[in-house]
Amino acid sequence: MIAGRLLENQARRESNARTYPRSLPLALVRGEGVHLVDAEGRTYLDCLAGAGTLALGHNHPAVVAAIRAVLDSGLPLHTLDFATPVKDRFVQELLGLVPGGLDGDIRVHFCSPAGTDAVEAALKLVRIATGRRTILAFSGGYHGMTAGALAVSGPVAVRAPLGGTTSEVHFLPFPSSYRCPFGVGGAEGSRIAVRYVERLLDDPNSGIPPVAGMILECVQGEGGSNPAPDDWLRAMRRLTAERGIPLIVDEVQTGVGRTGRLFAFEHAGIEPDVVVLSKAIGGGLPLALILYRAELDVWEPGAHTGTFRGNQLAMAAGAATLREVVDARLDLHAAAAGRHLLEGLRAATAGSACAGDVRGRGLMVGVEIVDPAGEPDATGALPADGRLARVVQLECLERGLLVERGGRHGAVIRLLPPLIVTAEQVGTVVERLAAAVHAAERTRGAR
Ligand code: PMP
Repeated sequence: MIAGRLLENQARRESNARTYPRSLPLALVRGEGVHLVDAEGRTYLDCLAGAGTLALGHNHPAVVAAIRAVLDSGLPLHTLDFATPVKDRFVQELLGLVPGGLDGDIRVHFCSPAGTDAVEAALKLVRIATGRRTILAFSGGYHGMTAGALAVSGPVAVRAPLGGTTSEVHFLPFPSSYRCPFGVGGAEGSRIAVRYVERLLDDPNSGIPPVAGMILECVQGEGGSNPAPDDWLRAMRRLTAERGIPLIVDEVQTGVGRTGRLFAFEHAGIEPDVVVLSKAIGGGLPLALILYRAELDVWEPGAHTGTFRGNQLAMAAGAATLREVVDARLDLHAAAAGRHLLEGLRAATAGSACAGDVRGRGLMVGVEIVDPAGEPDATGALPADGRLARVVQLECLERGLLVERGGRHGAVIRLLPPLIVTAEQVGTVVERLAAAVHAAERTRGAR
């Protein structure tokens, strides 16, 4: 049994810190569109999609052709950060997408090829440009695993080994209707979240030193598919702009159409100072960069360097992806398919006490699994149940559906299907996930 051998080898040779194969024991051999095939010949509908990377799904013909064309052209594959025609075209495509947003006067910095390094670059950029140190971040946020990015991320357990490097970061409450940090919920909870930040920024005794930047996700991804209200985003933009604080919007997961707009900040009509991009921007291959206002461009040559900043295959795959997303209006498709998914899941899980909340924006949807026997909190939400969510994830696997888990206690089942997912496939996702939730619910008594 080849799958068994591959999985055994992996378990024996790879690090204890490995992640996905622990919850999804898969040995993969093929990918096409929204489907993955494992070494046993089983086909899965992939709503993990490289943790939200694969906008066009697996092995999209436009992406494969773009990669082939580079390989056939004789272009050096390693080009540091030199100019190449492939890079030029990629940057052209990318800048063409940015809404008048960044004032039309934008700079691009290519980073080492992981979202986390682009976050490091963004933090460094605003600290250098403002001459200040403190960063404002949000509870529940996730920005990466290198020291600076982790320091602005919420998960305390993974941050703990960092020690002192987290001290120049202050966390603020992220609004949530379902798990309101103020125990209020709804629009009022979001208004309180704004007033709280406003008072803090203007309080000379707040304990917070002068602020170099604020970093946020418009829809928290790993934090459990938590969309920020547009009014709140506009307020964060206004409060930071009024005080000369650069706003960094982390679009690593939300970018390239996933939330129903090319960039998630467009829903609120705001203009960030820095945008962080990775995942889909490389068309499935490793690429990460920041876009920022030219006036912040005061760092010195070599201020954020790295050997692997010129991945030509990723730039070609990324340019092909951007073109396809724009030409096929996959942003609009993601908005419609996402509504269908959200409404379908709400209807299909309405009778299930374990499905506490179904939320999201575009094709970034989460179902929070709760313990129906637990004590409700101030706004009536039941305790998050990560153990039951794990059962739901396995029941999904059994039914040929790959889903991610995130959020507090790993209790949110997260769906990040490729943007090319059809209405029929959305229907299948709803059916399989609802069946998995009901099956998991039935196992509760047995626990
Ligand atoms: N920012 C966000 C919003 C993310 O979702 C992630 C990864 N899930 C990162 C940053 C880090 O990206 P990477 O894993 O490529 O370092």
